[in-house]
Amino acid sequence: LASREAHHETSLVKAGTLEVGGKAIGMIAGPCSVESEEQIVETAKAVKAAGATALRGGAFKPRTSPYSFQGMKEEGLKLLATARQETGLAIVTEVVSPEDVDLVAGYAEVLQIGARNMQNYRLLEACGKADAAVLLKRGPSATIDEMLLAAEYILDGGNARVMLCERGIRTFEAHTRFTLPLATVPYLQQKTHLPVVIDPSHGTGHTSLVPAMAKAAIAAGADGVIVEVHPDPENAKSDGYQTLSCEGFAQMMAECRRIAEAV
Ligand code: PEP
Ligand code: MN
Repeated sequence: LASREAHHETSLVKAGTLEVGGKAIGMIAGPCSVESEEQIVETAKAVKAAGATALRGGAFKPRTSPYSFQGMKEEGLKLLATARQETGLAIVTEVVSPEDVDLVAGYAEVLQIGARNMQNYRLLEACGKADAAVLLKRGPSATIDEMLLAAEYILDGGNARVMLCERGIRTFEAHTRFTLPLATVPYLQQKTHLPVVIDPSHGTGHTSLVPAMAKAAIAAGADGVIVEVHPDPENAKSDGYQTLSCEGFAQMMAECRRIAEAV
């Protein structure tokens, strides 16, 4: 179902204000984690003003350490809904278990399946039945073919609104948190009609590297970009070291627009 032969045109995935796969590039921005009403509403207003087309924010956080902040859970989903009320922006948020899919879909336009869960087949099946679009992130050790088969689970469940996200893979290289292969963009576009989103925040793990890789993703033909933005990255509860400030995001957007016009 995912193959380019099955469907020649790139699929346009629509979810509220977010459109990915059309002429305009979908720009998803917001904090790694929802932390408070003030934090999420301030970020939502700032990213919207800068041109973002959706708000991201994790409420259920799959953290590497069980002692790290695990997210605000349903309270966080409610705060995301408040931010949508304030700005109109579509909400992208992660779901980590099949039992929570209906709950999360009740608050968000897009269900994010995180890298750690790319091959959680029961979760993929549950998202295949959900009334929401899905952003499927590549597992750090998964091949592209494995990602496409994971997408197939969602499509086969009856949900056609699937976006694929390259967020970096594990390699021997340690100067970045992960290695972000941008050849994924044209390669996937040859293999599948599903739109492709790049995550330069997790893909690099360093704030200073994010704008260049966002621009490179757009130049490579990405259909969307997802980036972490926080009003005070240094004090973020997760992933502050790879997070742009609101001003940094506005600056990046101005540069991205110039690249988008050229491609
Ligand atoms: C995230 O988007 O904050 C996240 C946890 O991403 P990933 O699943 O790609 O690590
Ligand atoms: Mn994160």
